[in-house]
Amino acid sequence: MARYTGSSCRLCRRENLKLFLKGDRCFGDKCAFERRPYGPGQHGQRRGGKTSDYRLQLREKQKVKRIYGVLEKQFRRYYQQAETQKGITGINLLVLLESRLDNMIYRMGFAASRNQARQLVKHNHFRVNGRKVNIPSFQVKVGDLVEVKESSRKTAQITEAMETVVRRGVPNWLEVDKDNFKGTLKAFPNREDLTMPIQEQLIVELYSK
Ligand code: SF4
Repeated sequence: MARYTGSSCRLCRRENLKLFLKGDRCFGDKCAFERRPYGPGQHGQRRGGKTSDYRLQLREKQKVKRIYGVLEKQFRRYYQQAETQKGITGINLLVLLESRLDNMIYRMGFAASRNQARQLVKHNHFRVNGRKVNIPSFQVKVGDLVEVKESSRKTAQITEAMETVVRRGVPNWLEVDKDNFKGTLKAFPNREDLTMPIQEQLIVELYSK
């Protein structure tokens, strides 16, 4: 599947927000957004001016897609699924994105970023409920046990990520047994558990047109 292969930091500067796409680097003074907190490109510093409702809605959608590393077609499918579920569509959408296996692995601290988690999943480093799963978009359900495969427990990317996860912490809706390289989804997150500044209702407005 086609995937964005450009600079991750450029995306943060474009969205005017730290999206935490590069793992540990995002917490240090090498963060490009900290150093150049304005849009990328020749006219980056001149951006601003008129802001239409459509522009705000579009930017919000782009921002969320970039945070979770999801492309348009797949994002729209999540939206359609969220619409058919009970409850508030915008929140359903965020919960669906949070339930992706790559996101779970990042949240549990077995990867430094969602991007890295995606690579690690594709390379068969994880099991869900004892079964090999190498699909990053796999939907994790409440009670599912995610674990690092025994033969992968010395993989440098995983061990390094586990050491640095303290910086961002593990959310309380997950239970992680670091010593045994395991984690469980205790419950789906509530809206207040998701602390990134996202205005999901703008995405709903965009897709409802
Ligand atoms: Fe964004 Fe991280 Fe790059 Fe900073 S280091 S600009 S937070 S991806």
